Amino acid sequence: MAQIVIRNIRKEFGDFVAVKESSFTIEDGEFFMLLGPSGCGKTTTLRMIAGLELPTSGDILLDGENISQLPPSERDIAFVFQMFALYPHLNVRKNLSYPLTSQGMPRKQIKAKIDEVAGILGIGDILDRPVGGLSGGDRQRVALGRAIVREPKAFMMDEPLGALDAEFREHMAEELRALHDRMGATTVYVTHDQLEAMQMGDKIVVMNNAVVEQFGTPREIYDKPATMFVADFIGSPSMNFLDFSGSVAPGQESISLSGHDMAVPSLREGASGDLVFGVRPEHVHLSDDGTFRGRIIAAEYLGTTQIVTMETPNGELKARIPADRIATVGESAGIGFRGDTVSLFDRADGRALRSALNEGVLGHG
Ligand code: ATP
Repeated sequence: MAQIVIRNIRKEFGDFVAVKESSFTIEDGEFFMLLGPSGCGKTTTLRMIAGLELPTSGDILLDGENISQLPPSERDIAFVFQMFALYPHLNVRKNLSYPLTSQGMPRKQIKAKIDEVAGILGIGDILDRPVGGLSGGDRQRVALGRAIVREPKAFMMDEPLGALDAEFREHMAEELRALHDRMGATTVYVTHDQLEAMQMGDKIVVMNNAVVEQFGTPREIYDKPATMFVADFIGSPSMNFLDFSGSVAPGQESISLSGHDMAVPSLREGASGDLVFGVRPEHVHLSDDGTFRGRIIAAEYLGTTQIVTMETPNGELKARIPADRIATVGESAGIGFRGDTVSLFDRADGRALRSALNEGVLGHG
């Protein structure tokens, strides 16, 4: 069991606030992603969970026990450093046994443990080879092995695949996820790559500027972003934002975009003023009879789909449409959206207006 509850943690470095009151729960066995742009506080959050930094305030609970002020050695959490941080002159077996000999484990038990971990990772045949001569993938497996042999309650990983080229990265990401599914150990993984987070994570925390913008499953975060930041950060191309000024009453099912009725999810509370109509390129379709129209200003053919960029009275809009639709620059086309795929935001604070549909999303409290 390893449930980790983060309750209102804050980290200050002198006058600088790296993490502002953040709360979320990592359930036992989850592959949990901390996602956000450089400098948003992901690594600091991970280091606080591992005990490498102490929070200025707030609590971290591991299976109900408050571990906020415990040193790393008393937390039973393994921090998997840059995956290549191994002893290159020692062989694989010695690299793996190092954490166990330093714990004083008897030799026989160490051997059994290493054989077991080597079996899990498929590195039994390289145990006697020096780490220095191994391929990148094998070195990465050994580095993981060194964390696994300790049988920690949870693993912390900070951009473990960051240094790898794209193809190898994808392969290792699949391998890591498969390994996690076999072992079922709670894993917290830092990345700035939204695709990696979506592909690998059971849950994602999206951070920006030291705050948690949203926390939920990849689907919740993609379908119902809690803020414009999340809507923009997740998805490629990112969500379109069309200007909309006016008011929307609770339960209202359409709004007028430049005089054309467009369906929207019905809101829990009304809103008015400077609002934003958000729709993902995947959810835009072109139709000959649509009355809300745009002019195609660019078309990017991608083989299986194409991305067209259009000028509309409410701002620029990208649509991902089938590749076989002939899209010509200069053409005027009707634009349609399904109401349940649309998000409405308040421009002033960038937050999504709550609808009956996104009530369940765990975003801002
Ligand atoms: P990156 O992917 O670039 O590491 P990150 O989201 O992991 O980004 P953090 O490493 O958590 O960000 O850093 C958050 C902010 O806190 C940054 O502005 C960083 O400069 C600052 N920071 C981190 N550690 C310290 C420290 N020991 N002293 C002072 N400032 C720090």
